Amino acid sequence: MSLETSDVDVLIVGSGVSGLFLSNFLSKLNVDFILIDSLKDPINRIRDTGLVSENFVNLFPKAKDFAIKSYRSANFYLGKDSFEVFARRGNYYLLDRVALNKHLLESAEKYGEVSFGERLERINGYAITNYRKIRYKVIVDATGPYSYVRKLYDLESNKDFVIGIEIHTEDLLADGIHIFLDKKYSKEHFLWIVGLDGYSKVGIMDKGLNMRKFLKIIRDFGIYDYSLIYSHVIKRREEKVLAYKNFISVGESTGYLKKFSLGGILVSYIQAYFASLVIKGYLEKGIPLERYNKIIKDYFYVRSFPDFVRKAMKKKAIFNILKVLNANKIVSYFDLDFYIPFYRIKSIRVFESDL
Ligand SMILES: Cc1cc2nc3c(=O)[nH]c(=O)nc-3n(C[C@H](O)[C@H](O)[C@H](O)COP(=O)(O)OP(=O)(O)OC[C@H]3O[C@@H](n4cnc5c(N)ncnc54)[C@H](O)[C@@H]3O)c2cc1C
Repeated sequence: MSLETSDVDVLIVGSGVSGLFLSNFLSKLNVDFILIDSLKDPINRIRDTGLVSENFVNLFPKAKDFAIKSYRSANFYLGKDSFEVFARRGNYYLLDRVALNKHLLESAEKYGEVSFGERLERINGYAITNYRKIRYKVIVDATGPYSYVRKLYDLESNKDFVIGIEIHTEDLLADGIHIFLDKKYSKEHFLWIVGLDGYSKVGIMDKGLNMRKFLKIIRDFGIYDYSLIYSHVIKRREEKVLAYKNFISVGESTGYLKKFSLGGILVSYIQAYFASLVIKGYLEKGIPLERYNKIIKDYFYVRSFPDFVRKAMKKKAIFNILKVLNANKIVSYFDLDFYIPFYRIKSIRVFESDL
């Protein structure tokens, strides 16, 4: 029996926060897309805590409508030989992520096709899912830490994996921290704790792909209510292929994840924004998708410096972005201090393509 075949400009694989943001940006640019997710209900399956900084709300003011709580600072506890606490000042919001996802889904459905329970299985000229073939011009990897599409394209080279667990607990905070402090752990392990009065989540991660060792640590800690997560980190200055021919990746599949996963929502938003512009440029003007590599690299690179250096570099980076996108109009300010601890980040202007 031959499979049904669909034709589309953009196939987005993965309906996590990055796939949803991208579908919304593409809708605004009138780009035809199909959004698929192997889960039957990805909207209710949220991986993150939902904590975002003021910066995210500045970029996406609608987010405030979904805020459940706000905080004046966020604390992170990082396990090392000596226990360290990072407090990041500024406003933070805890979002009702299910409500936000529903909102994003509703607007995506108005413009494109959304199909849940549909899993990408192979790429063979077409994308082959569990029930049809999809012929696409651009395929987007929004599959999260597994980077599934990247693997099919044989672009997975990053061996630097982080295995992590998330521990669910109602009343963690100070008491819960002792779970970790009282036990021995080596330098390679670190943990993060997001204390949210009753919404607490704790994560402990282990650099290096040694599952057996990792599970032993968990057992030693006496932790039973947990779920495993896997992510990869991209080392600073390491170059990773984020776009190649008709492949492009957004969100966690890009590997731009720091050990604190907090910030993923903001990064997903920024990458989806850039990706939507580049995709539109590719479809309409033949601008190579590979330019996205440069945009993302410039964007994140410029942020890894302290303010005074960044100021000098900013001009050049902006010029590059402008050149790549053929841009002529300033549309927004992007700010991102989550990703660069210790430095206070000022805004950087980004440009929209003159599409
Ligand atoms: C414990 C934890 C807490 C976090 N807390 C925060 C926080 O407070 N704030 C913050 O900003 N970030 C947080 N993060 C980070 C944030 O969750 C991620 O950065 C974000 O979810 C990445 O979204 P994504 O869309 O790239 O990937 P995902 O959300 O993983 O979505 C990927 C989707 O792709 C689908 N998929 C995979 N393979 C296929 C396939 N073959 N076919 C079809 N579909 C497929 C999956 O079903 C999934 O729905 C946290 C992460 C963790 C693990």
